[in-house]
Amino acid sequence: MTSIPMRGGIRGTARIGVLGGGIAGLTTAVALRNAGLDCVVFEQAPRVETAGLGLQITPNASRLLASLGVGDAVDAVATRPLSIDVHRWDGGRRLARTPLGDACVESFGAPYYTMHRADLQQSLLRSLPTGTVRLGHRCVAVRCAPETVTAVFADGSEVAFDVLVGADGISSVARRAIADDLRRFSGQIAYRGLVPAGTFPEWEAEPRVRGWFGPSQHCVCYPVASDRFISFTAMTPDATASAPEDRTARPAASAGPARDEATSTASLARAAAAAYEGWDPLVLRLFRSAPTLGLWRLHDRDPLPRWSTSRLTLIGDAAHPMLPFRAQGANQAIEDAVVLSACLRQADDQPMALRRYEELRLPRTTRIQLSSRESAEVFHLGDGDRQLERDRDMPERWALRNNEWLFGYRAESAALS
Ligand SMILES: Cc1cc2nc3c(=O)[nH]c(=O)nc-3n(C[C@H](O)[C@H](O)[C@H](O)COP(=O)(O)OP(=O)(O)OC[C@H]3O[C@@H](n4cnc5c(N)ncnc54)[C@H](O)[C@@H]3O)c2cc1C
Repeated sequence: MTSIPMRGGIRGTARIGVLGGGIAGLTTAVALRNAGLDCVVFEQAPRVETAGLGLQITPNASRLLASLGVGDAVDAVATRPLSIDVHRWDGGRRLARTPLGDACVESFGAPYYTMHRADLQQSLLRSLPTGTVRLGHRCVAVRCAPETVTAVFADGSEVAFDVLVGADGISSVARRAIADDLRRFSGQIAYRGLVPAGTFPEWEAEPRVRGWFGPSQHCVCYPVASDRFISFTAMTPDATASAPEDRTARPAASAGPARDEATSTASLARAAAAAYEGWDPLVLRLFRSAPTLGLWRLHDRDPLPRWSTSRLTLIGDAAHPMLPFRAQGANQAIEDAVVLSACLRQADDQPMALRRYEELRLPRTTRIQLSSRESAEVFHLGDGDRQLERDRDMPERWALRNNEWLFGYRAESAALS
């Protein structure tokens, strides 16, 4: 068995491992370090992801990033959009405007950001000591015992920990030690791309989250990377979809494209334009202007009744993968990380800490997982009475004051209560 030297830990002795160096894993490492606990992160990739597209980071998570000491780094590269504007699919008539910017800070004490995923990951990585993240370590199995938990890696090495945190995404190996469930294909795919900001000079002085809702599909875009690019995501039914669940089909990466190498940007742009024929010309201009386009298949899983054993727990998409309709997957991972590290810092023993973490997090993430599925239906209503009713209610429903439960949530206080 490989021995990994570590300093400190719970009561100076615990060895904590984290599987996966995505947003959940890196935030966990930063939060543990802030709590005075060391850990090692094992990431399968040869380098921490520098690709990827946009993320909306909402005040429930941006306040935590600030408390972890990465707020300034994030603020330097993120955009504070003025509002979320929702438009009708044809003609582009505006249905609702939710003010963000200063209104969001006044309401929740923290900003609403749009940013490039890689910028967030780099901000987190830079605040960790060199050597915290071990790259090129693919975990292939996790074995749980009452007093220890062991990660087995693809090169045959095995490492035992007092606590192991599975932050290895929707296809988590760690999750298999806890549940035998399948991921669920939503029937939706997403075309995603980055467009140089100069393509839309009319938007440059007015950074906003802009969305278009229509029958069976929608499109959303916003500025990222210090306003240099517009990131867009267009979600539409997969014409080839059949099975609701699949374990073996193309990868369900929530952070990376399930893209057939042979699929060219030109053919994806043609397919997207065909799916959105008749939509607001601004949407079609997004597809035309993207130098590269990716295709994602959107999966989630049913909520679990529990996600910890005495020594192993899950976090982020490994614990509660959700559809992106509420833009909360990464935000919830950040909340998880802060609560988990607070529980590990406070508890008398580690199994108790993991139990408490799960008790605090499961109800909230379950609610958001399920409401993300419901949002898919509401966003994509066909033209008709229900859609008209939705559009009438939208300004009120999307008002910041009606989203206090989501954006005003203080995970750090919940962990201390
Ligand atoms: C179209 C789309 C739009 C989205 N928009 C938003 C948004 O605006 N806001 C938001 O909050 N969320 C959004 N999300 C969700 C968000 O991307 C995910 O919830 C988030 O990336 C989850 O982070 P994670 O670290 O848990 O998992 P991942 O990002 O999947 O990271 C897992 C990491 O673990 C590594 N790994 C995997 N398996 C192993 C293994 N066996 N051994 C070692 N390492 C391993 C991977 O290489 C990866 O680095 C969106 C998702 C999609 C698909």
